[in-house]
This record gives sequence, structure tokens and C-alpha cells, in this order.
Amino acid sequence: MADSGNRIRTNILVAGAGATGLIAAIALARAGHSVALVGVAPPPLPGRTVALFEGSLRLLDDLGLRDALNDISADVRGIRIIDDTSSIFRPPPAVFEAGEIGLDAFGLNITNDDIVARYAEIAAGMPAITRYETLVSAYDFRGDGVTATLADGRTIDCALVVAGDGRNSLARKTAAVGVREWSYPQTAITGILRHRRPHGAITTEFHTRQGPFTFVPMAPLADAPNRSSLVWLMAPGEAKRRMALEPRALAAEIEERSHYRFGAVEIEGKLGAFPMACMRTATVSAPRLMLVGEACHVFPPLAAQGLNLGIRDSTDAALALDGVDLADARAIAAAVDDYERARRADIDIRTRGVDLMNRSLLADILPVDLLRGATLAAVTAIGPLRRAILREGITPSLARSVGPFIPRAIAGR
Ligand SMILES: Cc1cc2nc3c(=O)[nH]c(=O)nc-3n(C[C@H](O)[C@H](O)[C@H](O)COP(=O)(O)OP(=O)(O)OC[C@H]3O[C@@H](n4cnc5c(N)ncnc54)[C@H](O)[C@@H]3O)c2cc1C
Repeated sequence: MADSGNRIRTNILVAGAGATGLIAAIALARAGHSVALVGVAPPPLPGRTVALFEGSLRLLDDLGLRDALNDISADVRGIRIIDDTSSIFRPPPAVFEAGEIGLDAFGLNITNDDIVARYAEIAAGMPAITRYETLVSAYDFRGDGVTATLADGRTIDCALVVAGDGRNSLARKTAAVGVREWSYPQTAITGILRHRRPHGAITTEFHTRQGPFTFVPMAPLADAPNRSSLVWLMAPGEAKRRMALEPRALAAEIEERSHYRFGAVEIEGKLGAFPMACMRTATVSAPRLMLVGEACHVFPPLAAQGLNLGIRDSTDAALALDGVDLADARAIAAAVDDYERARRADIDIRTRGVDLMNRSLLADILPVDLLRGATLAAVTAIGPLRRAILREGITPSLARSVGPFIPRAIAGR
């Protein structure tokens, strides 16, 4: 990285210092590139947690990032799905356990704020990453490189931009990548709960007509052995009413909605409310640009796919750029094409799948209920199908190992 006053020269600019941008920056640095990471620390996201599955944890492990989560996360060893729609075609509750596919746990659950804080600390200790605590205010994508103007007046010249700058991505807009966006009549209330009865390391997802109502295991505290994060999708008007309730009154509604499965509930800290939307992009790249995370896919938190996908975007970006000479425009174009091919199907399948699942809950139409009930019943009853679906959800075949980066990074120190 060369820095002459207000003009900085680097290999790759990573925009956005949320979870995806941080992981992308670390993966690219591990692959031997010098990285300018541009982004301010995101504001706290109250009650927001992410469940990360085994496939993602293996990728994080390859990057030396898994152990950093151990002491601040909780294992998720099973998933219980309860159809709470009152449909006449309601299937019986289904419980899926990690042991069925030979794993100790499906993954872990951790707060968004913790993951960002830990990875920001790791990025800060890596000589190949220079952090600029500001925003990019403009891009100039040209055939021979990219120039980014920062909000603090400096400029960065680089060979390529990896944009993890979220759903309103400036990089995506500047490169004129097309998007399709739509919203759902749903808001997610998120929060951390303390409850009397244990969760048994199992995520419990009640499927209601307004969307899922989910308890995900959280790490215990000395004075709170049983904790879960809550992700509760509901009509926006209901969310407004519930966000205005006194904590005890809202806790009573949570107890009732969960059919008292977890006993008495207490709300810990602040709640969050997030309108639900979906966004697909026409491509996940453009000349000298790779989009990662919510810059190229947004959907509701059913089946906990968002950041898991963002981790695969980040590692695939680093794999596509592994060993690429960033002074060679044709090599960069080929790497961008590789990235597009590697990511397209994975992102399409998850975006369409989550959209379909969410619409089937909201539909309230008998044939759709029948189909949804029959699908869950079939998945529950047919062992090989059940295990195949679990494997694809937890350790996707589309996740590619990034193992070689670690020895190279260590050798480079
Ligand atoms: C209720 C809820 C529950 C969820 N649960 C799960 C789950 O269990 N598992 C899972 O995998 N996913 C889950 N997700 C999805 C997951 O939270 C997101 O996929 C993830 O947080 C997106 O991270 P990101 O870094 O891509 O985007 P963001 O977190 O939005 O980060 C983008 C960053 O870019 C920065 N930025 C914007 N513009 C610029 C600019 N011009 N220059 C520089 N920086 C810029 C912003 O400041 C921000 O910090 C959930 C989502 C919701 C809403």
C-alpha cells in the first residue's frame, strides 16, 4: 500500500466494515493482497443475532476466524419446527438433530455486534489491511483501474473493489448493476430473552400466519443460565403496538405465543424492529467490482441464510483472486467472471427458497397450506431426503474450502 498524503494506492478496496466486509478483507489479506478497508463501525443492532452453520464455521476456521467466536457464542444442536398456523393441514412438530448428519452441532448463535467487534479487532492486527474509518462517497470505475473518493476528502486508487457496503450499496449503484426489490407486510422484532426453562441447545421455530416466531439458543451468563435470541415476524402494525408495550406486558405476549414452552420470560436489554424486504441483483459483479453480502442479496431471516451466504461470497471472492496479478487487466476480468459463476446459483437458490417459504406462510390458502404441510411431513418422514436437505442447509455443497490461505499467510508474516 502506498500513501502519499491524500492519495492512497492499494490492490483492493473493500467497502463496508460490517460482518461481510470484515470477513472479505481478512480473506483477501490472507490470500496475499494489500487491502484498504473503508467503513465506519456499524451502530449497535439491538437484539440481532446470527446463527452460523457448520459449513460457514469451516470456512471461518480456514481463515483462522472460528476460535474467536468460541467464548461468546452458543451451540445450536437441533432445530424444532412447529406449525402454529391453525391450518387444517398442519403437520406434526418436527425436530432435526445434528447427530443425524454426523455433527455435534448444526452451528452456533452469536450477536451481530460481537462478531463485528471481534473481526474488527483481528483486521486491525493484520499488516496487509489498512482501515479508513470513513465512507466512500464516489467511485470512478475505468478500464485501467478504480478511483474511490472518501468522505474525508482522500482518494484511493486500486485495481478492484469488493463491496460489502450493504443493501444500499453505492458501489453497486455506480456500476449500474440492476436490482429487483420488494417488501413483505412484515416487521421482525428482535431481542435477547432470559427464560426459566432450558432450550436444550435447540432452536424452536413456530411458523405462524405472520411469519416465524423463533427462539435461538444464546450463551449463558453467570446470573442467567437460560437465554435465547428472539426473531419474531409480524404485521408492521402489530410490531408498532408491541414495541410500545412495557417490557413485562410484551414478555407476557411472548410467553403466550411460545405456548409457555420456556416458562417465565424476561427481556434483556433493547429490542430491535426491522422491516422485511427482499432484493436480488441482476449480477453479483461488474467490471472491476465484486459484490458481497447484503450488497447483492437481502431476504427475511427464515432458515438463517443471510450472513452464511455473505461468508461464502467473501471466501469465493478471495478464492477467485487467489494468485491473480492485479496489474493484469485481463486476469482481473477473468477473476471477476469466476466470481460471478461461483456465486450466482448459490445466491439465486437461497433467495428464491426463502421468498417461497415466506410467501407460503403468509398465503392462508388451503392448497398452499396442503403443499407446505405435505412437504414438511415428507421431509420429516423420509430419512434420506431429510438428511440430504439438512446437509445442503448446514454444509452446502456450494461452499468451497479456502484452506491454503492460512499456511500462506503465516509464511508471509
Ligand atoms: C432479524 C434478522 C435476523 C437475521 N438472522 C440471521 C441468521 O440467523 N443467520 C444469518 O446468516 N443471517 C441472518 N440475518 C442476515 C444478516 O444479519 C445479514 O446478512 C448481515 O448482517 C449482512 O451483513 P453485511 O455486512 O452484508 O451488511 P451490513 O451489516 O448492512 O453492513 C454494511 C456496512 O457497509 C457500510 N457502508 C454503507 N455504505 C458505505 C459506503 N459508501 N462506504 C463504506 N461503507 C459503507 C455500512 O455502514 C455498514 O456498516 C438476519 C437478518 C435479520 C434482519
